[in-house]
Amino acid sequence: MQRSESMPPWLEAPWRRLQERRTGDRMPHALLLAGPGGVGKALFARELAEALLCTAPRSDGRACGACRACRLIDAGSHPDLFRLEPIEGRAIPIEGVRALREVLALRSQYGGWRIAWIAAAERMTSAAANALLKTLEEPGPQSLLLLVSDRPDLLPATVRSRCQRLVLPIPPRAQALGWLAGREEVTEAERWLTLAGGAPFAALERIRSGAVDPRPELVQDLAAIAAGRADPLVAAERCAARGAADSLRWISSCVMDMIRLRCCRQPVALRNPDLREPLQRLAAGCPPERLFHYLDRLNAGGREAQSSINDQLLLEDVLIAWHELAAGDCGARGGIRR
Ligand SMILES: [Zn+2]
Repeated sequence: MQRSESMPPWLEAPWRRLQERRTGDRMPHALLLAGPGGVGKALFARELAEALLCTAPRSDGRACGACRACRLIDAGSHPDLFRLEPIEGRAIPIEGVRALREVLALRSQYGGWRIAWIAAAERMTSAAANALLKTLEEPGPQSLLLLVSDRPDLLPATVRSRCQRLVLPIPPRAQALGWLAGREEVTEAERWLTLAGGAPFAALERIRSGAVDPRPELVQDLAAIAAGRADPLVAAERCAARGAADSLRWISSCVMDMIRLRCCRQPVALRNPDLREPLQRLAAGCPPERLFHYLDRLNAGGREAQSSINDQLLLEDVLIAWHELAAGDCGARGGIRR
């Protein structure tokens, strides 16, 4: 990760709070950085590790970027910083935690902090999490266990209760848009931020990776399913390929727009203003109470998607429910024919 010029504005307040604790000699020994994906937890963790190891930190507590410790971190070879992450994106095995414990059992090589950073900590196997408990209780002097997680609820309560929690939430939209707008490569910040559920780093990643906006195709699928021209199971496969949680969030935003279009007489601000026309056609025959009911189903699906059941089955269920809703009224009235 590149050393950043300035801290994103929504991270400044949590950073200051932590710095106050540091200067007051009240740094926790186990910190759980929690919050949705794409808000900057990894950046924050890196800044914190650098700041604690830097031998000449700046007045705001951030690392200088030039001392020997900072150069070693940049080279990925600071002996007092140990980073653990899931193997091939899957799980953190017990062997990783054992290696971490060995590092923390040694004396600090540079006489300062020793930091163990566990990325995606919720991916620890239960054996790994158990092995970590003793270290969480007695981490040793000037040691910091830095757990980072999008899904802290999946961590064992025994691990959570031994960490101080710092939550980095989705930032205010205006702040996130301002930050995105300040970047050369960013166009259509509104659209990408919406697609990323308000998470600025997730939006930036989509832009940088040249991602395609999936919503037009998604709305086409919804229209075709409603008209009986598409198989919900095939559409579910496409949705699963885009990620179940994201797909459900996007469908929800479309259904919310349909409700707005049905319920508001005045021109109304939509979450997907660029899709107003197809959504208007789609909404035309769907009674709002059915749309509300369907929204409940989508919200439940969103919760299920987070606990890693079968994504394909979940999406099939949701899209079959959409077909049934539409077959009731919308299809019969022909409001969504193309
Ligand atoms: Zn430094």
